[in-house]
Amino acid sequence: MGIGIGVLATQYLWVGAVEGTTLGAVRMYPDPSESRIDLKTLHAGDMLARIREMTVAVSQGRKVEWVGAGFPGIVRNGVIEESPNLGQLKGLHVTDLLAAELKSEGMDVPVVALNDADAIAAGIAATRGALEKLIRVWYLGDGIGFGRYPLGDGVWEAGHSVVTLDPKERYCGCGGVGHLEGIMGNRAIRLRFLDLEPEEVFLAARNNEDRAVGFVRLWHRALAAATATNVHLDGPGRFYLAGPNTEYVDVGLLGMYLQEMVKMSSLQGSFFEIVPDSHDLALIGAAVCGATG
Ligand SMILES: [Zn+2]
Repeated sequence: MGIGIGVLATQYLWVGAVEGTTLGAVRMYPDPSESRIDLKTLHAGDMLARIREMTVAVSQGRKVEWVGAGFPGIVRNGVIEESPNLGQLKGLHVTDLLAAELKSEGMDVPVVALNDADAIAAGIAATRGALEKLIRVWYLGDGIGFGRYPLGDGVWEAGHSVVTLDPKERYCGCGGVGHLEGIMGNRAIRLRFLDLEPEEVFLAARNNEDRAVGFVRLWHRALAAATATNVHLDGPGRFYLAGPNTEYVDVGLLGMYLQEMVKMSSLQGSFFEIVPDSHDLALIGAAVCGATG
């Protein structure tokens, strides 16, 4: 039996071989031993070529049956319609191009493309035996992703939920005013604090520096607000938190703010859970979704 291939583009490119719901060989670009490259600077064509090379590497001579690939942004019908954090991908017919790239290597396989956070949600559903009917994930990194499984037809760019009416809140990478990512995203934090990195801001908050303490409260309230909006639209339940910036999350504080924002009795009972190793889950989820393509 052959294998599925999961692909993920975030701060790195990841490609993994997946058999059933088990992740085998994985490659990263750039490799952790190499110097870091900002993927924003990598041409889309080069990105597809790296994915092809890594697919060959991880398949280790086994037959590849299908490919599922997760990309940040709005991904529909095989096209990356928007990708504020990897702008070079906007408008890319990624399934056609990746299928052609793989065909040049003799791999004639179906390719499915999906949102990267949706891939995490699918990976949680696949590996945890779908604990709930509905899986929702916030991805906290450079940008703020929102994943939902089962995959729907909608847009679900909940990272761009409006969480404040303050017209000065304009730090979102997409240019929209008042967005969740404009408070929580790494780029937004750097713009707000000029020269400080996100880790320095959270460290300053631990050292009780007023402005940083206020910001960390805002950071949590913003995520609670976007979650509360989601609860009012899609119902209560478990919200998974994934991505590098989950290290800054105070789950208790987040839950408290959410409780302040959701008061209808039938909408009670939501909670947050941090999932580690979300890139592994995303590779599994992407591959599992690829199987349905
Ligand atoms: Zn935005």
